[in-house]
Amino acid sequence: DPAGVGLYDAEADERARDQAVLLGDLTAMFADATRLEEELVVFYQPQLAAGETRVVGVEALVRWRHPERGILPPMDFLTMVEDNGLMAELSFHVLRRAVTEAAGWSCDGVPLRISVNLSTSTLVHPDLLLAVEDALEVGGLVPGRLVLEVTETTLMSDPDTALEITRRLTSRGVQLSIDDYGTGYSSLAYLTDLPASELKLDRAFTRRLLAEPRTTAIVAATVALSHRLGLRVVAEGVEDADTLRVLARLGADESQGFLHSRPLPPTDFAAWLSAQPGGNAATRTAPATAR
Ligand code: C2E
Ligand code: MG
Ligand code: MG
Ligand code: MG
Repeated sequence: DPAGVGLYDAEADERARDQAVLLGDLTAMFADATRLEEELVVFYQPQLAAGETRVVGVEALVRWRHPERGILPPMDFLTMVEDNGLMAELSFHVLRRAVTEAAGWSCDGVPLRISVNLSTSTLVHPDLLLAVEDALEVGGLVPGRLVLEVTETTLMSDPDTALEITRRLTSRGVQLSIDDYGTGYSSLAYLTDLPASELKLDRAFTRRLLAEPRTTAIVAATVALSHRLGLRVVAEGVEDADTLRVLARLGADESQGFLHSRPLPPTDFAAWLSAQPGGNAATRTAPATAR
């Protein structure tokens, strides 16, 4: 309550109170392992090989199944998680859960790659390597099937540290993906030093592709250079078939977006995958909380 401050903004006050309540819920959830398992869930979105119907991977995307507010997207709570020092715990939970839930999913007999997002604070967390190895062991996943997505911005914020940590991770066989590429200001030249195997072209490019000839040129050049550097290119946020066709023509290797599927809870994703040609969602391990 900004008493004594001349201006009184009822809406801002209401928002602040709402955020305080949400923070209370968040800390209570993190303090209770059972609630964390029930409420902090993972949705999955497929990645498909360009020009084919083959599913090659899934991205794990966290959701908060709030008891009263329903499913909350990352945008509604990740900043709060980060500001309260809970990000590493969230990431390790997602990592372990995603690997456990998705380790049995395959297409044409090939296990899907499982992509997990890591924030800056998680990338530099001293327990990251341990958490990764623990998740792989628990899920029975081959390291090469796990992809850690780190944004260009995170990788650029402290390039030397990022390089050292990502080298340590990839030396264990795990893959590195450069997420949201194109939103930062890095040159691909710096990125060549990174032990990445994938580059995710940000949705900003995908969205503008059909309308802007300049974007076509940028995407074409990025794909060409990525391939020279041995990186596969995944286009994010593909919503229509025309864009997908152009991306394939420009050489993008894979695509992800609402065109194929929205992110889905594990049981729904399993049903979706089973309906795809070659898709198999046999679960090897039964997670305690399947949804
Ligand atoms: P991101 O890693 O770039 O993930 C892609 C986001 O784009 C997802 O939003 C996804 O739902 C959305 N998306 C996918 N296809 C389309 C499309 O065709 N059109 C549109 N408009 N959007 C599409 P989501 O799930 O809300 O996640 C937002 C961001 O939150 C992620 O961006 C990622 O940076 C972060 N995030 C999600 N899960 C985690 C997590 O477990 N840990 C961390 N550290 N960050 C996470
Ligand atoms: Mg991502
Ligand atoms: Mg992304
Ligand atoms: Mg993005």
